[in-house]
Order: sequence, then structure tokens, then C-alpha cells
Amino acid sequence: MANQYKILSVFYFSFLTFVTQPLNNMSVTRFNALSTIDNRPDSYFFESDEVQNETIASYFGENVFGDEAMKKYLPEEAYLSLKAAIQSGEKLSRDLADVIANGLKEWSQSKGCTHFAHWFQPLTGKTAEKHDSFFTMTHDGRVIEEFSGSALVQQEPDGSSFPSGGMRSTFEARGYTVWDPSSPAFIMEVGEGKTLCIPTIFVTYGGEAQDYKLPLLRSQSFLDKAAVQVCQLFDPKVTKVTATLGWEQEYFVVDEALFNARPDLVMTGRTLLGRPASKHQQLEDHYFGSIPERIYAFMRDLETESHKLGIPVRTRHNEVAPSQYEVAPIFEEINVAVDHNQLLMDLMERVARRHKLRVLLHEKPFAGINGSGKHNNWSMGTNTGLNLLSPGKEPSKNLSFLTFFVNTVMAVYKNADILRASIAHAGNDHRLGANEAPPAIISVFIGEAMTKLLGQIANGKKTDDAAVKRAIDLISKLPNLELDNTDRNRTSPFAFTGNKFEIRAVGSSQNCAGPMTVMNTMMGLQLLEFKSDVDKLIAKGTEQEEAILMVLKNYIRKAKPILFEGNNYSDEWKTEAKNRGLNNFTNTPEALDVLSKKQAVDFYGKSWVMNAIELDAFHQVQLHAYVTKLDIEAKTLIELVNSYIMPAVFRYQTELADNIGALKALDLDGEISYQKDLLKRVLKNSAEIKEGIDKINKTLEKAHHCENLREEAELLCNKVKPHMDAVRDAVDDLEGIVDDQYWPLVKYRELLFPR
Ligand code: ADP
Ligand code: MG
Repeated sequence: MANQYKILSVFYFSFLTFVTQPLNNMSVTRFNALSTIDNRPDSYFFESDEVQNETIASYFGENVFGDEAMKKYLPEEAYLSLKAAIQSGEKLSRDLADVIANGLKEWSQSKGCTHFAHWFQPLTGKTAEKHDSFFTMTHDGRVIEEFSGSALVQQEPDGSSFPSGGMRSTFEARGYTVWDPSSPAFIMEVGEGKTLCIPTIFVTYGGEAQDYKLPLLRSQSFLDKAAVQVCQLFDPKVTKVTATLGWEQEYFVVDEALFNARPDLVMTGRTLLGRPASKHQQLEDHYFGSIPERIYAFMRDLETESHKLGIPVRTRHNEVAPSQYEVAPIFEEINVAVDHNQLLMDLMERVARRHKLRVLLHEKPFAGINGSGKHNNWSMGTNTGLNLLSPGKEPSKNLSFLTFFVNTVMAVYKNADILRASIAHAGNDHRLGANEAPPAIISVFIGEAMTKLLGQIANGKKTDDAAVKRAIDLISKLPNLELDNTDRNRTSPFAFTGNKFEIRAVGSSQNCAGPMTVMNTMMGLQLLEFKSDVDKLIAKGTEQEEAILMVLKNYIRKAKPILFEGNNYSDEWKTEAKNRGLNNFTNTPEALDVLSKKQAVDFYGKSWVMNAIELDAFHQVQLHAYVTKLDIEAKTLIELVNSYIMPAVFRYQTELADNIGALKALDLDGEISYQKDLLKRVLKNSAEIKEGIDKINKTLEKAHHCENLREEAELLCNKVKPHMDAVRDAVDDLEGIVDDQYWPLVKYRELLFPR
């Protein structure tokens, strides 16, 4: 009996030591995270056998108040008025709003909704919603379910917690959300709860935009009016032009346990420390490789959720970096595409948690491997079904194509700085201007065929007009392959890809509305100028086609500096771009400066997309976000270094010193050079870390006393960031030598090459 007890207690004791002292001395946080993955049930790694038999078409859009639901739940007159209002953008009457609200309530209740929410896109870049119940009480105490027209049209969320750039304090403290009928209402399912979501814009009491959507909607209608005028030169039947967007969302996926064991990922969305794994993406074996089953299960789940919400996601694949993926939909009208991307980013986070995974939308979660972007494919379509940037097969359409093509190039040439500002934020600074695709210099890539054609036109003499026209006729005969070739140069931030332009510099976490607003606005302004230039020539007696060609020829010559077909990453391009007069803003504060200049005030003012007050507020909000993010990063880094890294380093340092001391005591001085070198390296790095942290602390202190956001941003950008990098270099070097068991942070190889 006693013996048995002894055996048991030994067993018990060793079991305890195993649990409390994992793998000898290994860091508990890291060990726990890694063993959590090992202990996850198979269901997290493999798809269940439940095969989904339903076709996508049978549930696509079932959670959207689309055409079918509208027809079923609205009286015919209301249905037709709503459709007309969506098309024309005209206001709806209060009575009609009541009828539509009732239809929305009936529809959503039939699907189990108990609440409704105004869903909006404040300048935080994320989405926001305030939930209200349909349930209410009458004055005599009866409980009823109600959704009135006024609740549909306008709400007053507590706006004070959203960024306004000081706009509200100068006017009114309150913020209002106002229904945007052009984007369909939808049902958001979170767990068992279902909420009717109404897409809205978010404005101040005075009607000033304090979100991404209102400027976007304004820019759409501005572009529509300008583009229709130009289209009518070619086809009087065109009465509406709609800008289109197809985004390509890149992202990383990591296991939830590993994510939680990295305070930097939790707090900032990126790793502030971490030595690149010896294998990263150099074998190029991840791109388009087979998708791991666990990720595949997540993707399928995400797709099903997306399809129910009418988000037409279609492609999925691995990206270049390990654990990096991409999802892309079929393109849509811009404001719907923007809503869908915002919704998708939301869904990704939620669906990932179900699979015990975390999605990283940050532009640069890991050093040493590719970051994530969000290519924005942009074009314009007419009510007659024409894609204005598609060369097409009919020669008669070529001059129209060329007109829109050349005007886009000209628009980018003139407004490159404003476009650059629209993609500037703390996360994207790690890509733009930081030796990664694409560079911070905005240029346009158009491919060999179009370069040749524009060259012919630009160099054509007056007497060669017939030849130029012949060249234009050739557009329709260009083999598709040649146009497809345009996609080969992946280094350009802005590329023509056969029937659309692809803006590749947009960050993965960004709201597409920012850059898309700029695209629409610059194109609208440019087309108005084009129309006026052509009209002037026609008034002087030039024939229309001739006039168009003359103006285009002039634009091609002027815009030439923005066209670049070479390697955008090369140093030669930096020099060349400078000679061409193109700007290279490598960081956010610098890139945002244009927003306070006359150029931007005119740009947004003339198009009525943002007035001077809105623009200034927008600039302040962007600067504030930058400063806040960097401040959080710096503080997180300091905490990580002080409370995670250095204790482990000191332990190892003591061990090395003890070892050296012990060997010396045995008169083995000749045998300790290895240990001594390591110890020296540990001490050197520790000294560098201390120096860096001291400098960061000092500058943060100074920054907190700055009155001016721009100055604060400058300090963080140029005086804090470089020291954060220096601290990181030293810590990453230590990671390579300190005993692996002590290292407290989950390593890159563990995050990126999960078991
Ligand atoms: P790939 O580039 O892989 O050959 P596509 O050219 O079909 O594929 O499309 C890439 C992206 O461009 C997709 O997101 C797609 O929706 C989008 N896209 C295609 N045509 C247009 C268009 N006319 N306007 C906006 N986006 C478009
Ligand atoms: Mg692409």
C-alpha cells in the first residue's frame, strides 16, 4: 500500500512539474500557446463531412433587402419609387419612408430580427453601428414592435466618441446618421442574434461629412455628371455613368492562441519584434500553392457568410508570403463595393474566431516578408452597358476608349499628390517608401501596346492625322494577349490592366472609399476640363473628332512624366522620378501635407466633394490617427522589451556568466571564447536596447506636450520610429542567440509555419 502510494505520488509530482515547468525552463506563455494548438480537436483542422449541397445561387443575397425582397414586402408604388430614388439619388418623402420602414421591418422579422441598427463608416476606417430594438411601449403601456420612417431615415448615435477633427466642437456636439437608400439594407447575424442594418452616412448637425461615405457619394454623382457630358460626344443615349470597383483583399491568418501570446499583435495588429524565420518566401512555394485544409474551411465559411450578404466573392488563393491569402469579388458599383469590403473585413474577423484563427489585416504584420495591400480595380460603366475603359471590338468605340484612357492618365498626372495622400496611414508607411511594393512615387503603367499607340499620337504631325486615326482603329485589332501583358509589371502603383485601372498602393486595412473618392473626383474634374477644351476648338470651327484628337494629343504630351514602364523598386527610378518632377513622399505626415494646400482645397471644393472645413477636419483626423497608432506602438514595444524580453535575456546572461566563471575556476580560460563572444553580444545588444528605449521615452514625453498635431507626427515619425527600429534590430539579434527555451515570444516560424 505504502509502495503504491509512493509510486502514485512520484507520478503526481512529475506530472505537476511538467505542467508548471514546461519543457524544463521554457517560457510559460509561449509553451501554453504552442501546446494549445497541439491540443486543438481535429475539427479545427479538417472540414466536417457535412457536404454543402446547396448551390450558391440558392442562398446568395438571402440576407439583403434586394429586388426580390423589395417586391415582396413593399406595395408596388413604394417599390417603384424606391427603385427610382436609388437610380436618381432623389429624396424620398416621409410617407414613403414610413411604408418602406414597415416593409423592412416585416421582412427582417420574418427572418428573425429583433433589432435594427444604423450602420456607418466613421473616419476610424472601421464600421460602426448602434442597435435599437423594434420593441417599444405605447403611452398606455402596451408592448408593440415598431419601425417608423423617421427611425429609418435618421438617428442620433452618440457621436462624441467618433473622430471629427474638431468639427463638432465648433458647431454642434451631436452627430447624425442618415439613411443611404443607394446601398441595400442587410441582416447581420452574430451568433444567434440578428440585426437589420441600414447603411447610412454620418454627418454633423450642420450637414458636414464626418465619414467616408458622404464624400464618396458626392464624388460619384460629380463624376457621373461630368462623364455623361463627355460620353454624349460619342453616344447621345448615355445618360448615366457609374464608377465601378473590384477590390482584391490580402490578409494573413494565424492561430488564435499564438495571436493571443503576442501582445504586439493584440495591441497593434503587427509584430513589433521578431526575427525573420530562415525560411520565408524565398522558395516562392506558397503563392498559388494548395490551401491548407484548416484555412480552406475558414474560407468556405467566410464565403458562405459573404454570399448570404450579397457580397459576390469569387476568387480565393494563397498569396506570396507564408500564411498570406487573398479574396476578391466580382466588381460592383463603387459605393456598394465599398460597403461590401467593409462588411467583409468585419466578417473575416468574426468567422476566423469561430475557427480559432485570427485574421491580420494590417499592412505589415511581419518584417522580412511581403505586406498586404488591397488592389482597387477601378473603371466606369454607362447605362448603355459600355465599360468606358475597355478597348472593345468595334473601331467606332475606340476614340471614346482613348478619351477616357488619356484623361485618366492626365488626371493622375495632375493629382498624384492627392492620390498619394488618400493612401497615407501608419500601416501603409511600411509598404510605401519602405523598399516594398509599391513605391511611394505615384506613376502610371500602361503596357507596351498602349505606350506605342500614345507615342504615335503624341508624335503625329498635323499632316499625319490620317495615320493617327488608322492607329486608333488598330486598338480593336490588338490581340487580347497584348493588352493582358499589361498585368505583368507588378511593381507599379497604378496600372492599366486591359479594361480598368488597378490602384495597387491601397493598404489592406483601409476603407477603399478614401482613394475611390479621389479617383472619381480627379476624373470628374479632368473630364470637365477636357469637355471645355474640346468645345473651345469646336467653337473655332474645328470638326469634333479632330478637336478631340488635338486635345488628347496635347494631354499625352503634357502627362508624359507620369508614365513609367520600368522597375518601380529600383533606385534609378527614384532619381529619374525626381528629374521628372514627381514627388516621393515616404511617410504619412509628409504625404498628408497636400491636404492643407490650395491644390487640395480647390480639388475638393470645386467638385463639391468636401468643403474647406470638412477637408481640414479630415486632415486632422488622419494626423491624429497616425500619432495615436505610433504612440500605442511605442508604448507596447517598451512594455514588451521591459517585461518580456529583458528578463529572458538576463536569465541567459547569468547562465553564460556562471558558465564562464565555472570554467575559469577550473583553469579552462582557453576554452571560453565561444561563451565570451556570446556574452559580449548579449551585453552590446542590451546596451543598444537601453539607449533606444531611453530615447523613445524622452521623445514621447516631448510629443505629449506638443500643441500641434503635425509637429507631434513629425516627432513620432522621425524621432521615435528610427529608435523603435534600432531596438527591434537588437532584440531580433538576441532572439537568434538566447536559449530558445527562455524566449517568451512566439517566434516567426511558429506563427507562419503552423503545425
Ligand atoms: P485577373 O486580374 O485575375 O485577370 P480580372 O481582370 O477579371 O482578373 O479582375 C481582377 C479584379 O478586377 C476583380 O476583382 C474584378 O472584379 C475587377 N474588375 C474586372 N472588371 C472591372 C471593371 N470594369 N471595373 C472594376 N473592377 C473590375
Ligand atoms: Mg490584381
